[in-house]
Amino acid sequence: MEDQFRTEIGELGEFGLIEHLTKNNETMQASTILSVGDDGAVIDQFGRQSVISTDMLVEGVHFDLMYTPLKHLGYKAVAVNLSDICAMFATPTHITVSIGISNRFSVEAIEEFYEGVYAACAKYNVDLIGGDTSTSHKGFIISVTAIGEVAPGKFVTRGGAQVNDLICVSGDLGGAYLGLQLLEREKKIYLEHNGVQPDLQGQDYLVGRILKPEPRLDIVDWLQEKNIMPTSMIDISDGLSSELLHICKSSDVGCLLYEAKVPISEETKVMGMQFNVPTITCALSGGEDYELLFTIRQEDYEQVARNGNISVIGYITEKEHGAIMETPSGNKHKLVAQGWNAFG
Ligand code: ADP
Ligand code: MG
Repeated sequence: MEDQFRTEIGELGEFGLIEHLTKNNETMQASTILSVGDDGAVIDQFGRQSVISTDMLVEGVHFDLMYTPLKHLGYKAVAVNLSDICAMFATPTHITVSIGISNRFSVEAIEEFYEGVYAACAKYNVDLIGGDTSTSHKGFIISVTAIGEVAPGKFVTRGGAQVNDLICVSGDLGGAYLGLQLLEREKKIYLEHNGVQPDLQGQDYLVGRILKPEPRLDIVDWLQEKNIMPTSMIDISDGLSSELLHICKSSDVGCLLYEAKVPISEETKVMGMQFNVPTITCALSGGEDYELLFTIRQEDYEQVARNGNISVIGYITEKEHGAIMETPSGNKHKLVAQGWNAFG
């Protein structure tokens, strides 16, 4: 935060700040009847169903401002909420953004955060229609609510997977965890060596995976275009194990996951070796990849197999068989939701 360009929030006041942050807010959705500026926003449903999801991000718990540029934070706060809407097989249309800020932040800093918010809105064709602004005594608090639409009854839950359905995942996994490890390593060096500048050259992919996740609306759009209705779906925020176990529990089934089929990028493989951590562990327990995990019926296999952004990684079994991962050498392990514990 540059001191010469610092405007105190007190100079604008709460209403002035909201006005300042939303004065150029343009709505794009025909369903937006009334946006920012009243007691509530109004959206038309056009005979479709709404999906609503909220997530809160707390400084020190979910993000570290030492290595998270505010613009990226604004983008990510929106992106992870849109990812939840996508995971319901719905199309995101609207968001509200609520913030708790202290006078540690200048108007310029909050503006930067909103640049990221608006960039995500523009990219995903979503309207910002409101929010709330409050004082926080310690730390920056962000709460985003996302709204999406879907044809009546066409949303997808975690609970519909059937025995013999195929397990699919978009993109690749484990990169966000290693991106975070890289940022944490550079932060430590910076703090210990009095301002040594971070060396993140050539690490755009992994750092991007943690700082700038993208909701997989492209996958939802593609599946809808091809008339492929997944039987269950969830987004990967906590790691593949944990999310697959959610599907198994909600659907009352088991699963067989093939370790060798789990998609891992070259960048992730190289960095996994540097940090001496198995990349499969990063994929299973690292989290924050924000890819989509879903199940399809066998008859949809051929179409899905032709999409280079989707990997088929296993299949659904009877509940009695449990949730199992098979290694390349044929050993079988029970899947456990270790989350961050996996890394000690
Ligand atoms: P109320 O007293 O009804 O809560 P506010 O003064 O908090 O109203 O908000 C006025 C308008 O500004 C509302 O439309 C609200 O949704 C919007 N708003 C408030 N804070 C934000 C924010 N941080 N980002 C976007 N819109 C906001
Ligand atoms: Mg308010």
